[in-house]
Amino acid sequence: MQKKIDFRSDTVTMPTAGMMAAMMTAKVGDDVYGEDETVAALERKLSELFNMEAGLFCPSGTMTNQIAIKCFTQPMDEVICDQTAHVYRYEGGGIAFHSSASVRLLNGPRGIITPEMIRPEINEDNIHYPNSSLVVLENTVNKGGGACYTLEQIAPIAALCKSKGLKLHLDGARIFNALVETGDRAADYGQYFDGISICLSKGLGAPVGSVLLGSKETIHRAQKIRKAFGGGMRQSGFLAAAGIYALDNHVNRLADDHQHAKLLADALEKASFVASVMPVETNIVLFKVASGYTTSSILNSLKENGILCVTMGADTLRFVTHLNTDADQIAQAIQIIEQLKPLKTL
Ligand SMILES: *Cc1c(COP(=O)(O)O)cnc(C)c1O
Repeated sequence: MQKKIDFRSDTVTMPTAGMMAAMMTAKVGDDVYGEDETVAALERKLSELFNMEAGLFCPSGTMTNQIAIKCFTQPMDEVICDQTAHVYRYEGGGIAFHSSASVRLLNGPRGIITPEMIRPEINEDNIHYPNSSLVVLENTVNKGGGACYTLEQIAPIAALCKSKGLKLHLDGARIFNALVETGDRAADYGQYFDGISICLSKGLGAPVGSVLLGSKETIHRAQKIRKAFGGGMRQSGFLAAAGIYALDNHVNRLADDHQHAKLLADALEKASFVASVMPVETNIVLFKVASGYTTSSILNSLKENGILCVTMGADTLRFVTHLNTDADQIAQAIQIIEQLKPLKTL
């Protein structure tokens, strides 16, 4: 049986031979004692790249986001974010659980929010209201079909937060996809954000890990919260080495993933079982199924023909391109999509 073409997520990648070699030869120590030089090197590399003071290596993007939210809020505070936000939808209710904060949801097109949307949702100082203390942006927006913010859009949001005394955090799980697409410089990001989460195990292709960036003071506090969350790791340099390798070797190639996503979107546009495809900006393709079809009939039909994807909402399917979906597989997938005859459920 032929190997499946796996478009479920960019988290399904396997380490390359080069990455494995970098991991096997990493110099490690006990990072809870601050003795792992490879972890320190990864934290330094990313904080320098994004022009922030310090970094903290964590097991997951959920953890870096939740630590940041805990750092930037007090119990009874309110977090402002879009209703599509990963921190709100896909982190197990962590904002309520870890930070005892409430959430104010916005409705940005494709999850992209503006100062005009945020401003009226910032509470005045009044005993009835929760204290608005944090805005969270996501770049790229996962549930927005990989839509990107540019720094031009971010700068006025940062200015608003600053003038109102709110912190600004970036869920940058796929920030490198955004950088490759927009041409913005990582170094220009630091000035706008109090915290930035960056995933190494998405498009970058490392097996594990996310880094939280912030000021020295924020990261000092974050170290303690990571410990309390059970995220202090020992010889984690083996994992950090994969992250360093990914930053050195897997950033520019993200442009291929974006190109591949566009090719898949073109094929889907023409398919009879597709109602509409969200415009592709990066490596995520979201499409709505045509009437008469269900997501499960299409998902199963794709699966029988060797393509894996996931549902995202009642009438939407998601394809994500990545390190392990090469040009040959994209060509094969397009052929399969062109010939696919999913069952109609009238
Ligand atoms: C994947 C993802 C995360 C972090 O997920 P983990 O699986 O916990 O690493 C955070 N934000 C977004 C937008 C994501 O897609």
